[in-house]
Amino acid sequence: MNRRRVLQQLGITAGLAVMGPTVMATCVTPLPEDKKRVLRIANITDIHMTPENAAPERFLKCMEDIKVHKVDFFLNGGDTIMAADYDDKTREQVNMQWDTWQRLRKSFDDYEMYACLGNHDMWWAAPSKEDPMYGKPFAQQQLGMPDRYYSFQRNGWHFIVLDSNNANAGSLDEEQRQWLENTLAEIPENSSVLVMSHYPILGVSTIMLGGNHTDGLYITDLFYKHKDKRIHCISGHMHLLDKAVYNDVHYFCNGSMSGFWWGEGDENSAGKNYYYQTPPGYCIIDLYEGGEMVNTYYPHAY
Ligand SMILES: [Zn+2]
Repeated sequence: MNRRRVLQQLGITAGLAVMGPTVMATCVTPLPEDKKRVLRIANITDIHMTPENAAPERFLKCMEDIKVHKVDFFLNGGDTIMAADYDDKTREQVNMQWDTWQRLRKSFDDYEMYACLGNHDMWWAAPSKEDPMYGKPFAQQQLGMPDRYYSFQRNGWHFIVLDSNNANAGSLDEEQRQWLENTLAEIPENSSVLVMSHYPILGVSTIMLGGNHTDGLYITDLFYKHKDKRIHCISGHMHLLDKAVYNDVHYFCNGSMSGFWWGEGDENSAGKNYYYQTPPGYCIIDLYEGGEMVNTYYPHAY
């Protein structure tokens, strides 16, 4: 009923070749009426923005769809631009990608966006480490991030944004491990926590394709020490949709907005613009007072 109405509002009709939303939740759905939803968030990831392939225009169409859901804010899972990280990337190419992104950001600048760094967001080929565009600080600045990792609170939920881009990526460096341990220790017992990383801390698609956090053993053990808390995790990087559950922590890998990097696909693509069996799309995350999370992936057909 609800889903049908949303689909109608989105203008998704039978004629359009797009599959319906995929609901993944930490609880049985639909939730009882008395469960109080405290936040609705749009999770966009792996946008890989580029002026090519009409990606900006297609992104703007997605944004119109997302706004129908009346979200409180955005979580951006990283790889916001196509790629700055390759050795041959020039200053002009990197600037062009970020300029395109800044223009698009204006289309939803009445919403807050909390971002994390993806592996393709940093320009490592800058002429020197002193160059203002070199590395993480410049990408953080482009994304309005307070730091490369940070935490915040909203409506009773605690949010932790990690920086996976370290040695043996994805991984946390020693300084960030210490910070994460302290941050979790300071969060009161029985709290609800949503952790966002670019690389999956624990994935299913990563078993086949690689790309998992290489320190998943350390992080899952740390989460186990905080099993009084209701911890949920989201990630990107894979362009694939999957869900893993371990020690009662749910790990959602939330597809990608760019699908096959805004291209039509290859011999492995199950449909146009798909990466393997996952179409391009975005997630709407509903968070509840009792720590429940409903994570719904909406494919887009642009
Ligand atoms: Zn990535």
